[in-house]
Amino acid sequence: MIDLHLHTTASDGRLRPSSLVALAAHAGLRVMSVTDHDTVAGLVEAREAALAHGLRLVDGIEMTAVDSGRDVHILGYFFDATDADLERFLQAQRVARIERVREIAVRLQTLNCAIDVEALLAATPTASGRSVGRPLVADALVAAGHAADRRDAFDRLLGNDAPAFVPRCAPDVASVVEAIARAGGVASLAHPGLLGADDRIPGYAASGLSAIEVRHRDHSPVDEARYRRLAATLDLAVSGGSDFHGEHESRGGTVSAPGSVTLGAEDFAALEARRP
Ligand code: AMP
Ligand code: ZN
Ligand code: FE
Ligand code: FE
Repeated sequence: MIDLHLHTTASDGRLRPSSLVALAAHAGLRVMSVTDHDTVAGLVEAREAALAHGLRLVDGIEMTAVDSGRDVHILGYFFDATDADLERFLQAQRVARIERVREIAVRLQTLNCAIDVEALLAATPTASGRSVGRPLVADALVAAGHAADRRDAFDRLLGNDAPAFVPRCAPDVASVVEAIARAGGVASLAHPGLLGADDRIPGYAASGLSAIEVRHRDHSPVDEARYRRLAATLDLAVSGGSDFHGEHESRGGTVSAPGSVTLGAEDFAALEARRP
């Protein structure tokens, strides 16, 4: 089994990399990728654990871009995780994330839902390479008694149409795709079904995107069939994975676990063949 979309405590996952890899191994995965938001900080520990469990770890990442005010998640695979230019790019992304979380905290205060933002940031020190984001703000809201769980925090406060939402500053899709390609990687558009901007995908393909994430827990069978056809039309490879964050339930309420969404061996081989 192959699962190329998993998160750890290096970003907003709940399991540390070694625990995630152990869980993935016991779930029967043979190939996995750790794809944290705008950081490769989890990869060293994950690689060590993967070696111990006899499974293949593909170096991965989920980077954030913005297109017309919308967040676009770009997965990167097979790149050199020690690439200095990529690391600089990622550092800038993480600095912007910290700024945004501070602004969200200010809004929360005016909404009488104050969180201890300094404690949150101290728990994810810049030097660790870990990235912050709204799910960690959601956890702080739960800890402060202002929300029941992450989903509740997003629904009432942090989501895109909610009162504490702060727009993001991030590079465009072409810049993110280029950063991945320059580090020797393959870029795939994450969960296009959640993005809801199919008309933008041909443009991304023209910018050097190599694949789209056809298989994802929040895609219906109809979505999946549509994106597989689109991939064929645009000559893009196909990626897929569970997007597991350590929760039992996905955003849509479906069960999530490592390997709950898998990528076929043929799709994986075709994806790997896109390496520059
Ligand atoms: P950020 O990168 O700070 O904008 O946070 C976005 C992340 O929050 C996404 O990558 C998801 O992992 C998570 N997320 C988005 N919407 C929800 C939701 N409704 N409930 C729980 N987590 C969510
Ligand atoms: Zn996430
Ligand atoms: Fe995502
Ligand atoms: Fe993800």
